[in-house]
Amino acid sequence: MKNGRPKIVLLGPPGAGKGTQAALLASQLGVPAISTGDMLRLAVASGSELGGRVQGIMASGALVDDATMADVVRDRLDQDDARQGFLLDGYPRTLQQVQTLDDHLAETNRPIDAVISLLADTDEVVARLLRRAEIDGRADDNEETIRVRLQVYADQTAPLLEVYRSRGLLVEVNGLGEIDEVSDRVFAALDAQGKPETRELVEPQ
Ligand code: AMP
Repeated sequence: MKNGRPKIVLLGPPGAGKGTQAALLASQLGVPAISTGDMLRLAVASGSELGGRVQGIMASGALVDDATMADVVRDRLDQDDARQGFLLDGYPRTLQQVQTLDDHLAETNRPIDAVISLLADTDEVVARLLRRAEIDGRADDNEETIRVRLQVYADQTAPLLEVYRSRGLLVEVNGLGEIDEVSDRVFAALDAQGKPETRELVEPQ
């Protein structure tokens, strides 16, 4: 990683294990895990004005509007613990959010080091989310909403992968398997990303 602590974005469909991996990776990397979904759920639970505005949208599986998310994320990234590095989980999710994030990070001179894409197949993520619904009782973990969220991911968030791939930042990791297995894969992939000479050795001629 270039100067300072890592600045990482974690992408993946709902149910790919982003939250679990984000917490684990962030603690090992010494940066805060910033989950916009958790922040919004907290706002809903606290009964704040923001919570009241986003509750219905979240329960439907749709995305909260980009302007609201821009405020939420900018404020969080400007807190002291995130100045040196961070792991963003659940942001950006639209092309407009990529632009907002780029602008904000450029202003504060801390470019993203890597974008990790956790890969998982649809049947597996639906099964995982239904299991989580039984355990956590999250308002947006029912079969109908899960399908909406997967469609929203395919339509609005998947296009971000190409953007980050074209910048040479994308690191794709198989998200299936045990939690430790997946985090080992993420670390191995990040290491390889930081050392282009290693990549050249394994790439076919
Ligand atoms: P998550 O826990 O990341 O799956 O987020 C739960 C819900 O919060 C999503 O389905 C959206 O309604 C909302 N949300 C979280 N992050 C964002 C974001 N970056 N943009 C828009 N909506 C978001």
